[in-house]
Amino acid sequence: MTDIPPSTPVPSGGSSQPDARRAELAENLTAVRQRIADAVTASGTHQAPELIVVTKYFPAADVQRLYDLGVREVGENKDQEASAKALEVGSREGLRWHFIGQLQSNKAKSVLRYADAVHSVDRTSLLKSLIKAATRARQEGARSTDLECFIQVDLRQPVPADGRGGADPGQIPALAEMITAAEGLRLAGLMAVAPLDEPAGPAFERLAALSQQLRSQHPEATGISAGMSQDLEAAVAHGATHLRIGRDVLGARPSPR
Ligand SMILES: *Cc1c(COP(=O)(O)O)cnc(C)c1O
Repeated sequence: MTDIPPSTPVPSGGSSQPDARRAELAENLTAVRQRIADAVTASGTHQAPELIVVTKYFPAADVQRLYDLGVREVGENKDQEASAKALEVGSREGLRWHFIGQLQSNKAKSVLRYADAVHSVDRTSLLKSLIKAATRARQEGARSTDLECFIQVDLRQPVPADGRGGADPGQIPALAEMITAAEGLRLAGLMAVAPLDEPAGPAFERLAALSQQLRSQHPEATGISAGMSQDLEAAVAHGATHLRIGRDVLGARPSPR
C-alpha cells in the first residue's frame, strides 16, 4: 500500500530471550500448510489455494512475526482494529490485507486506505460506497491498485432475512455487473462461510456451482474464498482458491477488546 509509513521493528525481547510466540506460530503454520498440502493431494487439484492468515484480535507484533515467517496475506474483520494494525505494522514488501468481515458502508473510505481485497461485498449500498471511495482514492493519488472484490454469498437454505450471511445467490449477477463496470474495483470471485447447521461439504459444493455460473459471465472471476480452520479440507475438495485460517495458526482468540 502506498500511504502507510515505514514499518517499526518487531519487539524481540532481546537476543537472550528467544521469541516463544514466533516458535509457536511457526509450528502452527507448518501444521496448517501440511493440512492444505494433504487436502490438495486428496482432491486431485493442481492449484494450491492461497492461505490468508486471519489475525483478528491478535496484535500487530503477530502480523510482523507471521511476515517474517513468510506469510504475505492477512485477514481482518473489523475496520477499527484493522486500520490501526495496518498502520502499526507499516508498509512491508508484498504484504496484503484482506477485509473479511461485515462492513458498514461508512467504513468504505477507511478500508480503501489499507485493504487490498474485500471478501464481504454483500449489497449494492456497500458497493456504491466502495466505488465512491475507490474513485476518490485514485483522484487523490492515494491508491494505484484495484480493490479486489469477492461477493459474499449466503449459503443457508432458504436464505433468512437477517442480512448477516451475505447476498442471496440471486443477487450475484447484479453485484458482479456493478463491480466490473466500476473503475478501481476488480471482481475476484465469490466468498462464503459454511452454514452452522449442515455439513460444510454440500454447502461448498453449492458455492462451486455458483462460481461456475458466475464465470460463465465473468471468466476472470475465478476466486472462491471458502474454508476456515475447521473446514479447510471440505473447501479445498470443492475448489477453494483462498482459505481464511485464524485459530489454527494464531491459537484461541483472546476475548474481543
Ligand atoms: C474469523 C474468521 C475466519 C477464520 O476462522 P477460524 O475458525 O479462526 O479459522 C474466517 N472467515 C471469516 C469471515 C472470519 O470472520
